[in-house]
Amino acid sequence: MPIRLLPEALIDQIAAGEVIERPASVIKELVENSLDAGARRIEVDIEQGGIGLIRVRDDGCGLAAEDLVLALTRHATSKIASLEDLEAVNTLGFRGEALPSIASVSRLKLVSRTAQAAHASELTAEGASRSEVRPAAQPQGTTVEVRDLFFNVPARRKFVRTEATESSHVARLVERLALSRPDVSFRLRNGARVVLDARAVEGETQGEARIRAVLGDDFMEQALPFEHSAGPVWVGGWLGLPTAARATQDGQFWFINGRSVRDKQLMSAARLGYRDVLFHGRHPAYVLHLQLPPELVDVNAHPSKLEVRFRDQRQIHDFIFRAVTWALGDTRPGAAPPMPVGLVAPAGARTPAPAPVAAPEPGGAPAHAPVRETARGPVHAPAREAAREPGRDPWQLAAVLESMPVPGEPALAAAPAVRSPQAAPVYAPEADSRPLGTPLAQIRNTYILAQTADGVVLVDMHAGHERVLYEQLKAQYADGLPSQQLLEPVVVELPAHQLEALLENQAEWERAGFEMDALGPTRLALRRIPALLSNTTIADIVRSVAAGEGEAEHHIEDASDRFLATLACRTSVHARRRLTLAEMDALLRQMERTDRANQCNHGRPTWVALSWKELDHLFLRGR
Ligand code: ADP
Ligand code: MG
Repeated sequence: MPIRLLPEALIDQIAAGEVIERPASVIKELVENSLDAGARRIEVDIEQGGIGLIRVRDDGCGLAAEDLVLALTRHATSKIASLEDLEAVNTLGFRGEALPSIASVSRLKLVSRTAQAAHASELTAEGASRSEVRPAAQPQGTTVEVRDLFFNVPARRKFVRTEATESSHVARLVERLALSRPDVSFRLRNGARVVLDARAVEGETQGEARIRAVLGDDFMEQALPFEHSAGPVWVGGWLGLPTAARATQDGQFWFINGRSVRDKQLMSAARLGYRDVLFHGRHPAYVLHLQLPPELVDVNAHPSKLEVRFRDQRQIHDFIFRAVTWALGDTRPGAAPPMPVGLVAPAGARTPAPAPVAAPEPGGAPAHAPVRETARGPVHAPAREAAREPGRDPWQLAAVLESMPVPGEPALAAAPAVRSPQAAPVYAPEADSRPLGTPLAQIRNTYILAQTADGVVLVDMHAGHERVLYEQLKAQYADGLPSQQLLEPVVVELPAHQLEALLENQAEWERAGFEMDALGPTRLALRRIPALLSNTTIADIVRSVAAGEGEAEHHIEDASDRFLATLACRTSVHARRRLTLAEMDALLRQMERTDRANQCNHGRPTWVALSWKELDHLFLRGR
């Protein structure tokens, strides 16, 4: 075939192929144009999942009659004029390709009116053809109507999914845009049904109000506000509690300098931050903002802003991952609300964090919240340092563990005296302001019932203990776990294949404080064990770790962490026994000091609360 220039209409269709994938991509381009035009109110209507009709109407600056034709011409834009402009671009669009692309694959009508115009003007386009510009009736602003999307590109049309799927893509998209600009009113209708209606909000708490309007109060009730900064880079927002994780990633929202992005690296950094606290196969929900000087990031690398480029990829990734890990470390009693269960209202203190969101500039063009220059530590830093301070915690978990016989053994008889000065509970539960309160009883060898100043709490002692132990093992692992030499080696009988698998993994065991050697194909001698574990139960613990029970349950990626988590899990299961009040008290206090103690290693909640009000309500008191 000879070389020839492609017809204009075909060029537009090729361009459309890159950015217009489905109805939601059309809406994205049109709404971004409305935001660039300084709109304060944006209404989106769709029919048949957006394939039949998409209508976006705004009250922005509008287009002059003589600009309508240009707006539908490729590479025609009012947003940049030079290379300098391009480098400093802060509008959402600038390529001048969206409208001509959309027009090339649909039947499009553009109606617009500026503040100065005596009346509105309209233009229709279908494939390559354009109508005359005609007068029309409409108040200031712009309406773009897109009908029969992909009517002339059957290949594209085949990739469009069901109406329900396309509608849900549209809804997710409008949610993202609405979250990025609380100062603008958004309404989305699917046929006659209003899917989203969020009024413009101003002021300090606009971000929170907008999240409530878009994602509902449920999200907020189960989210942890947080912020963290390092030099000019700031990350913050709301992290959904691990116990409120979902089956899909639909609840994950990222914004860079106020713009919605769906960037794989950001999502993976956040996921890594949750790795220790998430139930396998679940996805956290969050609304997160990253603010950084524009020269450190290129949000325009990809035409549909699916991914962004950071000048220092690795640093940003680690910064986010650490910040999220830190914040989630504070999900311990008293620092974060417990899992709300049915009637149970979340209790405990919350740290307010303002939502960094884009604010409008007087000129109408959106500006983005300035980057905060202050280098500050994480919000909860002091509390965490105190919790970690060595020597502050006279109670050693070893005391509990040492005294823990295997299930079925006579319980209390074997328990030596608890070595903690604070072991005797303060018996004034009514005045107990500690988050987990005063223990009253143990129920079914599983739960601890405790009373606080606000009501009662139930603690899953095994889940709580597992977390406490895991965090202790992790903290000590870095410097080598202290271990104890056994006076006489403990001999463990194992099936040959398990022993072999264990020996393959021997380095891991040794790093965790074990010293062991094989006495035969099915016999293992333990000569040294981690100081945190008890020699009376160690054989069982080793057997069940070797058997690999529950391996797949963890969502923990790092091999050594996974090993420690399994160790903690097996150890706490083996701790199943009756506790004295003093031991219960010790465990509650330990949980209050332990990072991430609101959920076990599997992401299950470790405690729930029932307030006096809720109890009274249950018994219809005070009515
Ligand atoms: P870009 O947004 O990259 O400039 P588009 O093809 O999306 O390119 O739009 C072309 C031009 O049409 C814009 O530069 C703008 O001047 C004008 N325009 C598009 N939509 C609107 C709108 N809703 N209100 C005002 N002007 C608009
Ligand atoms: Mg545009």
